[in-house]
Amino acid sequence: MASISNALSLKHGLSLWCPQSTPSVNRISQPCSISSTNFRRRSFSVSASSFANENREFVIVGGGNAAGYAARTFVEHGMADGKLCIVSKEAYAPYERPALTKGYLFPHDKKPARLPGFHTCVGSGGERQTPDWYKEKGIEMLHEDPVSDINIEKQTLKTSSGKLLKFGSLIIATGCTASRFPDKIGGNLSGVHYVRDVADANSLISSLEKAKKVVVVGGGYIGMEVAAAAVAWKVDTTIIFPEEHLMTRLFTPSLAQKYEQLYQDFGVKFVKGASISNLEAGSDGHVVGVKLANGSIIEADTVVVGIGAKPAVGPFESVGLNNTVGGIQVDGLFRTSIPGIFAIGDVAAFPLKIYDRTTRVEHVDHARRSAQHCVKSLLTAHTDTYDYLPYFYSRVFEYEGSPRKVWWQFFGDNVGETVEIGNFDPKVATFWIDSGKLKGVLLESGSPEEFQLLPKIARSQPFVDKAKLEKASSVEEALEIVQSSLKVEAAV
Ligand SMILES: Cc1cc2nc3c(=O)[nH]c(=O)nc-3n(C[C@H](O)[C@H](O)[C@H](O)COP(=O)(O)OP(=O)(O)OC[C@H]3O[C@@H](n4cnc5c(N)ncnc54)[C@H](O)[C@@H]3O)c2cc1C
Repeated sequence: MASISNALSLKHGLSLWCPQSTPSVNRISQPCSISSTNFRRRSFSVSASSFANENREFVIVGGGNAAGYAARTFVEHGMADGKLCIVSKEAYAPYERPALTKGYLFPHDKKPARLPGFHTCVGSGGERQTPDWYKEKGIEMLHEDPVSDINIEKQTLKTSSGKLLKFGSLIIATGCTASRFPDKIGGNLSGVHYVRDVADANSLISSLEKAKKVVVVGGGYIGMEVAAAAVAWKVDTTIIFPEEHLMTRLFTPSLAQKYEQLYQDFGVKFVKGASISNLEAGSDGHVVGVKLANGSIIEADTVVVGIGAKPAVGPFESVGLNNTVGGIQVDGLFRTSIPGIFAIGDVAAFPLKIYDRTTRVEHVDHARRSAQHCVKSLLTAHTDTYDYLPYFYSRVFEYEGSPRKVWWQFFGDNVGETVEIGNFDPKVATFWIDSGKLKGVLLESGSPEEFQLLPKIARSQPFVDKAKLEKASSVEEALEIVQSSLKVEAAV
């Protein structure tokens, strides 16, 4: 890797900053091996004031969750000031994106979340990185200027406004884009929303302010969270999806039934197993309904489409994609096949060591951890392979005055048979057991101590006595049974 990097550096006369004291095992530029007098004459240290030229030591493309955590890690290693540039499509400094379908959508009288309140890294209890934070740390931020092209050989990026940036090392953190309905079936009608960024959420809020009938298409995270928020606005809300129950990629039918009942108690209607033919427009071009394949029409003045997301790989296809899970292929240190180019967060297809498979994870915990792991590997001699334990969570109905708040966490792999304990009053737990081993666990409304136990269980994958677990009379008792299996294994 280093030899290719050096060749590229020499060939293109790259003038990259070379730390004298910090080991850099994975960075593209290792020009320290060049005769130091020559190198010093030809090189320069990028300082905040030299950002006016086109050379950058480290560039992150994408100003989302992963970028914010990566920036923090650069700062922690003393490698941000005058060396790091973040190129973002958005107008805002990186923020905790999950807030957009949670606190951000609360009605105006229920203390909605607003920036700068949820800039990264508050989601993990860290410092709130406001735009001033980036300035103070000497990090260059280019906003609303997405990267449109890359020249791998020349190590340059071109932005939509025509800026040319030469990079030493590049981290691609472009996340995902929301999947859309095609325009020909009404996917871009006025009143039809997709929620991926602050601008999308603001647009949805202006619709909710005057909405009478909201239809949410999709029974996954976005659908469940937006429908719960719509309830707080006291609007007629219907969720439509083609599957048999909510959140089919994680929930069992029995667990989904409990959440569906809760949503119905809140007044939400369901149309399940439905396929959508098109979105209907009124004479003014605004959406008026959702037409199903069976010909029926569900009236709506606001439609929110939450049907999944696609990795935002363009313009980086040439870096090397994964054909099975999509996204940019990386190794356990987030290195792509091109030396000095890395990918993190939603867009990265990485080896999931614990289950020995390649995957992409579209969740904030992975965005945070992959960013930290990648930057640490890039800047130090740390070469541990990323060893991620899948973790998903959601929180809904948390607005002021809500009669029931919902907060679940899942750790591990949802494979094998399941055991469900608890009546959702408010707790319920589902355990996934495969070949006698506990592989995954989901807990609703646990205590902080109980939630802390979940990753330990899922990571250890203890053998459990399924019959004994099934007889547990409460979630607490079930967790005790599992915890004792952990202790037994630890003692052996
Ligand atoms: C509404 C919503 C709710 C969510 N809720 C949860 C939740 O409850 N729990 C959970 O675990 N996860 C949740 N997620 C997922 C989580 O937010 C993502 O996994 C996380 O944001 C991924 O971080 P990222 O940096 O990889 O991508 P993102 O945070 O999406 O950031 C990518 C950034 O790159 C920018 N970009 C794209 N292309 C370019 C380009 N060519 N040039 C420059 N910039 C570009 C984008 O505009 C964006 O700013 C939610 C996501 C959404 C959208």
